[in-house]
Amino acid sequence: MARYTGPACKLCRREGKKLFLKGDRCYTGKCAIERRSYAPGQHGQNRKKTSEYGMQLRAKQSARRYYGIAEGQFHKYFLMAERKAGVTGSNLLQICESRLDNFVYTAGFASSRAQARQLVNHAHFTVNGTKVDIPSYLLKAGDVVAVKETSKTTDEFKTLVESNASRPVPQWVDVNKDAMEAKVVKLPERDEIATPVEEHLIVEFYSK
Ligand code: SF4
Repeated sequence: MARYTGPACKLCRREGKKLFLKGDRCYTGKCAIERRSYAPGQHGQNRKKTSEYGMQLRAKQSARRYYGIAEGQFHKYFLMAERKAGVTGSNLLQICESRLDNFVYTAGFASSRAQARQLVNHAHFTVNGTKVDIPSYLLKAGDVVAVKETSKTTDEFKTLVESNASRPVPQWVDVNKDAMEAKVVKLPERDEIATPVEEHLIVEFYSK
């Protein structure tokens, strides 16, 4: 399935919550959710109560859009999560969090997941010293992600690291901003993941 390239704010308005898809703008009064907190489209302000199925669908779509993952890939992650020991919903979010593009964003090397995906695609990062340009690459505990040596000295990365320095970094990520590298201390538990979705609804959606 093709990647969505339309307006990001429309996705937040469709889900009725902030998905933080546009970096700094999401924290300002320019955020579309702050200004028009109803669904997009002609009938956006007239939408009726959502059914149980609708709630499950919205939870799944929110998570997908939050991480920028296509439907087919997201379903594959769900099947992987089911096969793993533990709680399927938490496993699913842990897999999403361990994607390289998400990690680059979480570590503060990009202002949004969309930007992180583009930077990874443009081969600006290494994993354990080896160039990796696949945004969906799944990291393991102990992996070290670094900005490529030739990219470290560019104004783009210096500005990015400085502008994201105030964003809190979760404990499972150990960042060395000076060296422009970050280590996966361990894979995150559910209470260390701030994703605004109810994952049990996603499990119900796929278990039908
Ligand atoms: Fe969503 Fe950010 Fe747009 Fe606000 S500014 S609607 S949080 S993408």
